[in-house]
Amino acid sequence: MHDQFFAEIEERFVRYVQIDTMADETSATSPSTIKQYDLLHLLADEMRGLGVADVRITDYGALLGTVPARGAVGEHAPAIGFLAHVDTIPGFSGTGVKPQVHRAYQGGALPFPDAPALLLSPDTAPDLGKKLGHDVITASGSTILGADDKAGVAIVMTLAAALLRNPTLEHGPIRIGFTPDEEIGRGVDPRLPADLAADFAYTLDGGEPGSLVYESFSADKALVVIDGVSTHTGTAKDKMVNALTLAARVINALPQHTLTPETSDGRQGFIHCYKLHGDAAHAEISFILRDYALEGLRAHGELLQLACRTINAGDPRAAITCTITPQYRNMRYWLDNDMRPVDIARAAYRDLGLEPYDEPIRGGTDGSRLTEMGVPTPNLFTGMHDVHGPLEWVTVQDMALATATCLRIVELGCER
Ligand SMILES: [Zn+2]
Repeated sequence: MHDQFFAEIEERFVRYVQIDTMADETSATSPSTIKQYDLLHLLADEMRGLGVADVRITDYGALLGTVPARGAVGEHAPAIGFLAHVDTIPGFSGTGVKPQVHRAYQGGALPFPDAPALLLSPDTAPDLGKKLGHDVITASGSTILGADDKAGVAIVMTLAAALLRNPTLEHGPIRIGFTPDEEIGRGVDPRLPADLAADFAYTLDGGEPGSLVYESFSADKALVVIDGVSTHTGTAKDKMVNALTLAARVINALPQHTLTPETSDGRQGFIHCYKLHGDAAHAEISFILRDYALEGLRAHGELLQLACRTINAGDPRAAITCTITPQYRNMRYWLDNDMRPVDIARAAYRDLGLEPYDEPIRGGTDGSRLTEMGVPTPNLFTGMHDVHGPLEWVTVQDMALATATCLRIVELGCER
């Protein structure tokens, strides 16, 4: 029964969310912000206190540890990793989070003390309507809650504690990992797969109970650089080539009623222009390209390159280059060859009374990169909802259910 975890997981979660760990995409360091160490060091101390072995913080800011294998069965069982990220999204305050616990939710709208106009209601958050009787946790209205991903952190810590205080449960080595900077796409250092040393792993970074993510976007980024011809404006006739005018033409040459994030959903991909800066002499446009299929991703890149070539051909005095760089790949390509972690998760969900549903995410996870680098890593639910804004919420009961699911995955992992 997962009710054994209610008190512990609430205590951990409420404490962790009050520690500010906002990432900063403009920083070049890893972790991107020193304050992520506030939580990493606290977790390291707690892990040592619980009896987790090999606890260390790597010089790229990941916290790792091991719950050693136990029993004859455990010695031959695969090493399973459980991961969560400590950072929160830049762009919405994660400073001074004041978690509000609404006991035994009875339906209706929940208020926010620091934002009287704000309401969390099943009208706009349909999953909330399913949580009657749950203890719902929100922020106070002026910050995010940080359930993304401190729900995952609390679940993994509660799992480790449960394994270490249960001497009769035989299991393989369980690797614990807390990573920085997931929200800015820098959570998986190239050294992490070797340091994690897991046969397969799970990220705890998903939403509604039952959700199981093993398919993500494949992602490239593209930088278009435009060098115009700069002259004095008074003598510019037939000489000046304005880089900004060409930048506008490139953007205008791309699809606008399809293939953009704001016009696509489901399994459609897109070309997204997210930054434009420059002057009349020199301009740079930054794009991200996304698709589930590699052919689709390639086609988006070719379309962008074609637009650049066409605009450049219209004025050969300018120089327009388009450089495409891979970011991450759909983890499904690898998981299709080794479905073991997905199969174990599905079986564990069913054992806990949950019907698993596949949820291809329109983004990437740390698991996308880890899978590509050799550690198959699907993403499990945590119960977090409406993340990255002031309406973010999670329930104690859903986090406890996720903890029980992980425990079942550990048990099933020995049998395969
Ligand atoms: Zn997350």
